Amino acid sequence: MLSDKDRIFTNLYGYEPAALNNAKKRGDWDKTKDFIAKGRDWVIEEVKKSGLRGRGGAGFSTGLKWSFMPKNDPRPSYLVINADESEPGTCKDRDIIRNEPHKLIEGALIAAFAINAHACYIYIRGEYYREAEALQAAIDEAYAAGLLGKNAAKSGWDFDLYLHRGAGAYICGEESALLESLEGRKGFPRLKPPFPAMAGLYGCPTTVNNVESIAVVPTILRRGADWFTSIGRPNNAGTKIFCISGHVNKPCNVEEAMSIPLKELIEKHAGGVRGGWDNLKAIIPGGSSVPLLPKEICDTVLMDFDSLREVKSGLGTAAVIVMDKSTDVIKAIARLSKFYMHESCGQCTPCREGTGWMWRMMERLVKGQAEISDIDKLEEISRQIEGHTICALGDAAAWPVQGLIRHFRSELEERIRIYAQKNAA
Ligand code: SF4
Repeated sequence: MLSDKDRIFTNLYGYEPAALNNAKKRGDWDKTKDFIAKGRDWVIEEVKKSGLRGRGGAGFSTGLKWSFMPKNDPRPSYLVINADESEPGTCKDRDIIRNEPHKLIEGALIAAFAINAHACYIYIRGEYYREAEALQAAIDEAYAAGLLGKNAAKSGWDFDLYLHRGAGAYICGEESALLESLEGRKGFPRLKPPFPAMAGLYGCPTTVNNVESIAVVPTILRRGADWFTSIGRPNNAGTKIFCISGHVNKPCNVEEAMSIPLKELIEKHAGGVRGGWDNLKAIIPGGSSVPLLPKEICDTVLMDFDSLREVKSGLGTAAVIVMDKSTDVIKAIARLSKFYMHESCGQCTPCREGTGWMWRMMERLVKGQAEISDIDKLEEISRQIEGHTICALGDAAAWPVQGLIRHFRSELEERIRIYAQKNAA
């Protein structure tokens, strides 16, 4: 369990004001200019050494991503921060923005310097209206204190930070759709390559990072890469904010050590599963797009990238959605299928047609109004979507259905049998 001294987000719950004075007392903006004085290679190397992996879902090494930015390119470089937090179950960036905005702003300055960017755009989802207000207030405060703008934080680096509000489309959380939207177009994901590091915002070198990935950087530099790697397991370093929702006694966001056992996470921080651990049916461990896990796996699995991948799920955004035995798990996954169908941008045929097809089959399976062979057909459709689309929304739609078939096939079959019996009578 993470000790308080190792906590990065000491004001995650907003017990103290988010204001600059209070943020400085919590340690923010300390030695910022010294880190910048050490140079861009030092910053990138330190972040690489820390083992920080992107906190937005993909889990790619943050330092490595920064190192992909071209050197000596005549075009301007951009940092874009993805605050379009829309994955169902996920609400961690919201608390950072509300209560620890200066960690994000300081991190933005350091990251922008590391990738040679003088400008950064934070793309925040439209529904986060109050959060956008709070973040803009913190940005204004930072400008007034000389921490942003010309010679930001007396570092010698000129840096401007802009906040941009989205309009509520889930797909704009996909990095290339986000860039399209930022440029004023429809949020259609782009074909890759080229990747944003080569041709991103306005066709210029761009790095897109999640809010949490950027907000942890200043503390990593202050406390050292070794400190960060000492938490968690190799290849799964550091602390992580977990969002625990669903059938638990105390739903919460909590910063914990990576690789904490899932059961311990829920029992220590969320007051346990409603009705006790034995009343657990399944858990979606990383936001709605990752396959759910039945209780037998939840008993022992660790909450990190590698452990969850080994059980054919994923850490994703670390949004833990708990379902007790009262849950109609088929109906729950059908609801997610509807969500992904609704949010598909429609560019690729497998996603546009397949998400609707899966949802219609799932709706029939909720009632049991299907043949046993339809289960295999549904699996086959999901495989035809997965990996055959421009962006990861296709995979995100396919995986929950695959997880359901993998772990709850007998429940699907049982429902079909019951329906058939009732209608034969
Ligand atoms: Fe659009 Fe779906 Fe294709 Fe992504 S996978 S580009 S959301 S149609």
